[in-house]
Amino acid sequence: MNKGELVMNNLMQQGCPVLFGCGTVNQIGVEAKKLKITKALCVYDNTMKNTGTADRVIGCLTDEGIEVVSFDKVLPDPPEEICDEGAELGRKEKVDGVIAIGGGSTIDTAKAIDILLTNPGKIDDYFGHPFPSMPPNPILPLISIPTTSGTGSEVTFAGVITSNKAGGKRSVLATGHFAILDPELTVTAPPSVTAQTGMDAFCHAAENITNVRDNPKSTVLASHAVKLLLEWLPVAVKDGKNLEARTQVALASNFAGIAINEGWTSYGHCMAHAMAATVVEAAHGNLCALAFPVYIKIRAEECPEKVMILADALGLNLDKDVSPRELGEAVSQRVIEFNREIGVKSLKEMGVKREDLEGHLEHGQAVLNDFNYERYDRNPKPAEFWTDKIVEVFDIYQ
Ligand SMILES: [Zn+2]
Repeated sequence: MNKGELVMNNLMQQGCPVLFGCGTVNQIGVEAKKLKITKALCVYDNTMKNTGTADRVIGCLTDEGIEVVSFDKVLPDPPEEICDEGAELGRKEKVDGVIAIGGGSTIDTAKAIDILLTNPGKIDDYFGHPFPSMPPNPILPLISIPTTSGTGSEVTFAGVITSNKAGGKRSVLATGHFAILDPELTVTAPPSVTAQTGMDAFCHAAENITNVRDNPKSTVLASHAVKLLLEWLPVAVKDGKNLEARTQVALASNFAGIAINEGWTSYGHCMAHAMAATVVEAAHGNLCALAFPVYIKIRAEECPEKVMILADALGLNLDKDVSPRELGEAVSQRVIEFNREIGVKSLKEMGVKREDLEGHLEHGQAVLNDFNYERYDRNPKPAEFWTDKIVEVFDIYQ
């Protein structure tokens, strides 16, 4: 396939409109009214309740005469029961819109709840792998207010939910109608959360550039996201109150989210999902950050020209005739240094032992279970290969 065909065959999706900037959260009432919301289900977690962010949003809504029903039971890696429970409340209260206040887990939970407000059954009925089909009825107006910078879920078309039956993550399809991205809301995120979510955004961008489904638009957005994160994520980690850093990181996360809507992530994310399912319970962004240096060495052999675009975004200034192996090594080392700089924890620091990994084929099999070869790779590699790669994740970053 030549470059021209690639451009012609890609859907340049624009996602949902985003109101971006400090203080924009105060517009929520006005924006909800524009979407004809009169009774909103506000979806959030304990942190949003305790920090007062949820109350601030609810105040802006009630000021505009909008009735509010609160659902404050969101949990990380959203369990399917929580989505069903939130939907039950929304159905009972006959809400006509949903507002997500929080990080990626909250936005994904809100997407799942919203599907069930216009469609029958439980959220398990709408899972699919690798991709579900679109629920028959369109969802109610959904506004997302992200409070971390990482998932880009405010602009993506899917929500990721933990399925009991599958024993891992499954997706549902729903795109929000509007998002308010106010960097001021991210200043309360502690350094570890800032680093993890920021690395999730980094991996979205960097896996997107090096994916089989990249396109010129997503590559431009993702390359810029990488540059912004390289410069500003360490600042945001060290000084959470630095609004310029928070703004640039929020922008990067949003750009990376738009990019993966079209080009998706790659098997760095599959490795992270597999480690979460079998190796260790840890934040998604932390595991993505650890998997990336191993992932990129594989991709450097498979598509050096794409990895070179990433190397340029990282400011590596490599020789144009560098070998794929040297290229992969250079990018991998740069990301390991970056992980160290912002305090990403290693598997060892999380209590994993090397002997828990070596020869454990179920870990490699979990990577394969997360795969869609149409999407990633037409030359499947066996479970042994991926088990060895997870051991490498342990070895190269201790
Ligand atoms: Zn991710």
